[in-house]
Amino acid sequence: MGMFRWLASCLLVLAANSAAAMVLPDIEDLQPDQIKPWFAGGFTLDSQISSPGYRLVYRNGEVQGAVFYSHQITPIPAYSGTPIATLIAIDTRAAIIGLKIVQHEEPILVVGVKEEDLKRFTDQYINLFALDKVRVDASNRAGYVGIDGISSATITAMVLNRSIMVSAKKVSQALGWPSHVEALAATPQEALTEADRWKERLTPWLDRLPTVITVTLALGLLLFILFFQDWLVRRPKLYGIVRISYMMFTVVFIGYVFSAQLSIVNILAFIQTLRYGFTWDTLMLDPAIFLIWSFIAVSILLWGRGVFCGWLCPFGAIQDLIHEASLKLKIPTFEFPDTVHQRLWAIKYFILIALVGISLDSFSTAATMAEVEPFKTVLTMGFAREWGYVTYAATLLFISIFNSKFFCKYLCALGAGLSILGRFRVFDWMRRRNECGKPCQACATLCQNGAIKPTGEIIESECHFCLECQVAYFDDHMCPPLVEKRKRRERREQARNRPAVVKIIESSPDS
Ligand code: SF4
Ligand code: SF4
Repeated sequence: MGMFRWLASCLLVLAANSAAAMVLPDIEDLQPDQIKPWFAGGFTLDSQISSPGYRLVYRNGEVQGAVFYSHQITPIPAYSGTPIATLIAIDTRAAIIGLKIVQHEEPILVVGVKEEDLKRFTDQYINLFALDKVRVDASNRAGYVGIDGISSATITAMVLNRSIMVSAKKVSQALGWPSHVEALAATPQEALTEADRWKERLTPWLDRLPTVITVTLALGLLLFILFFQDWLVRRPKLYGIVRISYMMFTVVFIGYVFSAQLSIVNILAFIQTLRYGFTWDTLMLDPAIFLIWSFIAVSILLWGRGVFCGWLCPFGAIQDLIHEASLKLKIPTFEFPDTVHQRLWAIKYFILIALVGISLDSFSTAATMAEVEPFKTVLTMGFAREWGYVTYAATLLFISIFNSKFFCKYLCALGAGLSILGRFRVFDWMRRRNECGKPCQACATLCQNGAIKPTGEIIESECHFCLECQVAYFDDHMCPPLVEKRKRRERREQARNRPAVVKIIESSPDS
């Protein structure tokens, strides 16, 4: 308890002492040199800023176009929780003639996406019109202009697209470009009702209906498992099948197909969002991530962090499956002595504090440091990275052959963050016996996470809710007090049956 209080105070002090929010470029400070490539020949940049935040460009006294920053007109927080600053130029036809990302804090753009990939993405906007309906990866939808997303940065690409197109539309509408703009104009953002906004937030959900249905069903099944855990763990064979199947689903679908591995970066981004102004827009862009986060928000209060770590985290599941296989193959495993184990698990909390502190000063630095998580290497980029990242991730997976969930136990800042939130858990679902730890150590030995104290109590903040100890709890071949009871019962039954056998033998004609 003391440790958690200390951690909470560290985080509060960091928040209180954090530097001011990131300063994004202002159109007022724009220099003509910055837009030179887009306006050939001599031009002048109007010093006046017109609403909603653009400056006009003239040549020989004639208007040639307008320039503006997307974040000043449509400040949508991206994956990092802060808006992406994009400088945009349109001509009098309302065609985009220049576009450049000038500042961002996006983790995936800092580490993971190459400059040429980013340029390929932004180049797709050149010659599109402000009133075009542009959608990322929607090439086959009638009425839309489809553009390619950025591989492994779906959310960032969607936010970029929305802020570019909405800001371009607002500026062109304000200027009345092109001349028929009023006839074609969509409803201005300010005039949208709350219902319209929710409708807009839900247009990505319809595109990804199969994902929404699959994730909802999977979360529903998990809820069923959790509510009926006692029924399930009394059937060890069924439990084994359900658990392995669910972990495989988590790896394949949540990890690779839906790319919905959550990360400490999500928590850091959420903190940034609170600093820059909370909005549902970014949160709801990816249905799978939104559904999983919502599920965690509720389940953490009921069951603690274990539901995510034990069932929904793809990297956790990969380690679990590797270790299960190594147990089946009878590969020798090792555990640190209890005192060492308890000291090592503090490392992840220090990593968490460091990342939160750094993110308050520079999100992109924190995102780079968050590479201590191998999630991006293993799941988002499928090991297609520089050798250093690959070696690190492969080493962690290799260690999990011998020491179950080594990364989770000692290094995972996300797990540490969820553990702190899990302190507010309302119910205790784990069954224990008086004999647990006094003297029985069967479950403590069984628990691959080292989450059971030698004295028998479950350390909730370290428990991954795998339910192995609950299977043992009901199994009269595994749980020593039950084994003892079963043996006594069997002896009684044998004693009861013995005289009858003797009588039968005595009364037989041969005897
Ligand atoms: S500790 Fe981290 S890697 Fe392990 S299951 Fe939890 S979130 Fe996933
Ligand atoms: S064995 Fe029990 S205490 Fe250990 S992680 Fe699984 S559910 Fe938690």
